[in-house]
Amino acid sequence: MKAQPKGSHYINGRYVEDTAGDPIDLVYAATGETIARLHAATPAIIQQALEAAHKAQAEWARLKPVDRGRILRRAADLLRAKNDELARIETLNTGRAIQETLVADSASVADALEFFAGAVATFNGEFFDLGGPFGYTRREALGVCAGIGAWNYPIQGAGWKSGPALAMGNAMVFKPSEAAPLSALALAELYTEAGLPDGLFNVIQGRGPVGSALASHDLVAKISFTGSVPTGKKVLALAGSHMKHATMELGGKSPLIIFEDADIENAVGGAMMANFYSTGQVCSNGTRVFVHEAIQGKFLDRLTERTKAIRIGDPLDPETQMGPLINKMQYDKVLGYIEIGKADGATLHYGGGVPKLQGFENGYFVEPTIFSDVQDDMRIAREEIFGPVMSVLSFRDEDEAVTRANDTPFGLSAGVFTRDLPRAHRVIGQLQAGTCWINNYNLTPVEMPFGGYKQSGIGRENGMAALAHYSQLKSVYVETGDVVASF
Ligand code: NAD
Repeated sequence: MKAQPKGSHYINGRYVEDTAGDPIDLVYAATGETIARLHAATPAIIQQALEAAHKAQAEWARLKPVDRGRILRRAADLLRAKNDELARIETLNTGRAIQETLVADSASVADALEFFAGAVATFNGEFFDLGGPFGYTRREALGVCAGIGAWNYPIQGAGWKSGPALAMGNAMVFKPSEAAPLSALALAELYTEAGLPDGLFNVIQGRGPVGSALASHDLVAKISFTGSVPTGKKVLALAGSHMKHATMELGGKSPLIIFEDADIENAVGGAMMANFYSTGQVCSNGTRVFVHEAIQGKFLDRLTERTKAIRIGDPLDPETQMGPLINKMQYDKVLGYIEIGKADGATLHYGGGVPKLQGFENGYFVEPTIFSDVQDDMRIAREEIFGPVMSVLSFRDEDEAVTRANDTPFGLSAGVFTRDLPRAHRVIGQLQAGTCWINNYNLTPVEMPFGGYKQSGIGRENGMAALAHYSQLKSVYVETGDVVASF
């Protein structure tokens, strides 16, 4: 199988290659075979991409928002028309099941582009009556924005960043993760087909050093980063030392609290969604599942039954629900955490092994895994694993659940399952998390801001909040009297 793109980078409306850059091999996670070789951007490629973006941006920012929006809407239509092809690319890129990539990836980018295409025209400044003189504010583009993506939802990451950035009149240079380099290129090609002027969305490949070059480059006004907390801290420090705007979408160890009155079937489904979707490689996953002691047995029984029925295997088979982890590094990391969980005394309730799959013996598959009797101080309950490993913890009352849920440096997400409405809102009000769900989990409609509290992030993606983060505010005072400005 091959998935070689026409070039490693996409700059100024066309593919570009420079084999002087370090090779980046894309290994298909289901089979372990190398399906593409790309090259990291050299300093010359980085410069070329940023200059192209810089050159194209001013004219783009002068267009009326509705005119920019029209192009984004056309891109959304193309994304929907090419969804099958793009889903296949994303599955090869990440190993995630095609069942998911058909509904959660390009489709979500199309939603975002449609939303921002319309929303930007309503995103205006304020008017101030100053008793004669008046004032107003303008929302203006920042200039060139750099996006740095994680590997779990690569096209979604590229779309959620470029959608609001472009709508607001910015240009973007996007660096996908070296672990999943393909789909951002497909998005760039599609933007060109939709009529986006050359240079406004560029993709360059690379590892950490290419990311840091972007975060410290003079032509970059804003950096929008998605990735782990340790890398985010480095990127934020670099951006800070150059006084750049920055948005940080980082990791989590989110709590999911299931009260004794919850609908068990729904809560089990929510916990599975919060741990096994995308083979557990979701930043907002609710990996600490606090279950009220009164329903613990019933919950675990039903959870086990339903987890046993998950179909693991060939990610390109539409029946498959769970594919492999993205690469060997992640596979080793997840299996390592399963050993840590056992060694720390948690009960391995289900899974924990490697499934035997004919034809996929070299893939990075791990069984959906459930640990029970997990204690708050165990490493599997404190550290982000980023794999299909659920920790079930027991609690007695509401206050205790809230206190323990908040006992983490992360604050990306949280969920509550209960049929008691006042309790649901009371608890959500106390949870230290930027993105919360009541009686569901992991849904991220583009209309709503998405992002984290505490170490899980700064700024927001999606919603009107994203337009604010991709713009700067200008205040204008207007004199209406016949006065001479005097000192
Ligand atoms: P990572 O931090 O290893 O890498 C993220 C990106 O940063 C990659 O593109 C990488 O090449 C780049 N990078 C690495 N070192 C860099 C440096 N020194 N300077 C600049 N860039 C650098 O993260 P990952 O393993 O790709 O992704 C998984 C992590 O991302 C998890 O922690 C997950 O929770 C998080 N994530 C967060 C969100 C969110 O929206 N909050 C979404 C998806 C993933």
